[in-house]
Amino acid sequence: MSEKKRCVVVGYGGMGGWHTRHILEAGAVELLGIYDIKKERCQLAEENGIHAYASFEEVLSDPRVDFVTIATPNEWHKPLAIAALRAGKHVIAEKPVTLTVADLKEIIAVSKETGYLFTAHQNRRWDCDYRMIRTAYHSGKLGKITSIESRDQGSRGIPGDWRGKKEHGGGMIYDWGVHLIDQMLGIVDDKRIEKVYCRCDHITNDEVDDGFKLDLYFEDGITARIEVGTTNFIALPRFYITGVDGSGVVSDWRDECRLVLCRSWEDKDVAPVVTAAGFTKTMAPRDEKTTYEEIIPRPEVDVHDFYRNFAAAIDGKETQIVTHAQLIRSLSIMEAAFRSDELGAPVSIEDAPTCDRVM
Ligand code: NAD
Repeated sequence: MSEKKRCVVVGYGGMGGWHTRHILEAGAVELLGIYDIKKERCQLAEENGIHAYASFEEVLSDPRVDFVTIATPNEWHKPLAIAALRAGKHVIAEKPVTLTVADLKEIIAVSKETGYLFTAHQNRRWDCDYRMIRTAYHSGKLGKITSIESRDQGSRGIPGDWRGKKEHGGGMIYDWGVHLIDQMLGIVDDKRIEKVYCRCDHITNDEVDDGFKLDLYFEDGITARIEVGTTNFIALPRFYITGVDGSGVVSDWRDECRLVLCRSWEDKDVAPVVTAAGFTKTMAPRDEKTTYEEIIPRPEVDVHDFYRNFAAAIDGKETQIVTHAQLIRSLSIMEAAFRSDELGAPVSIEDAPTCDRVM
């Protein structure tokens, strides 16, 4: 068995704390310590029994360090990643990997030049809600898929830290959009995107988006709606998918996926619904004579596989789960979303290659 890979977490805030705990749980990685620009965070780490390096340079010059995980505010990912790769360390950057495709390509070029691995922490690929909708999409039970909707809606506003500031890469497209876009691409796999249309909200923050509605138009007539809100006191379902022969819903993070499937298109008689305007049969819900239900149960997932995979990828035994092509593709969509919001019109994507998914 190969030795555990040794890691330092850079940035010991909310997510840096998460990484230090989960690195230990993953088993495949050893935590050497952390570095944070703030003295008080380093002090806290020491109180928690974690070694705090005195500077980033000290991290990079420690020959025991195999890789760093960068969990700083977003604008720091690029300079820290490039410095670490050049110092001979593999790198995991938190999401969003960078703020622009051009920045991402610069890091990828350095990764290729130096031969050290670079990836981003797209940990929501292990979320059950996403996995179940992916299963529904690929099951064939829904017939030809026509639309997929993915929503995260809270009511606590945009977080009051650096996420509210443009200079740090704040806003909800960078914060949550990046996860939901990555998941949507994971559902539809290699479908080509024809157009992107996005409208950003500025309900509680003028500087950056505090929510957005993003429509992706894929080939084969599949449309995807991705919506993030921070002033939604009633949330719409987490996922909704529909095809010609059925629909699926995941109402909430904690739920299973419920499918309602059509027994036969021809047999569609229903009891009419009476509204103030009169009867409607067209919009009346089908009953159990013409439809049936199935449940896709919540799968067993282990988010620690991210670190196990990265450790194996360093040894050349596995391919990294989050690939450069995938990162370029989702960041291209985010750039197109910003462009579309500015123009108030749909835009096409110039740089969103299709790419196969590992999962
Ligand atoms: P945070 O503000 O809680 O922590 C950031 C820490 O980085 C702070 O302690 C700060 O002092 C430190 N820092 C700032 N600049 C630094 C530098 N140049 N060098 C070293 N340390 C520096 O922020 P957070 O919520 O932990 O977010 C950090 C990153 O993690 C962001 O990129 C964010 O998008 C990402 N994140 C990812 C997830 C996820 O689920 N994958 C969840 C939350 C946050």
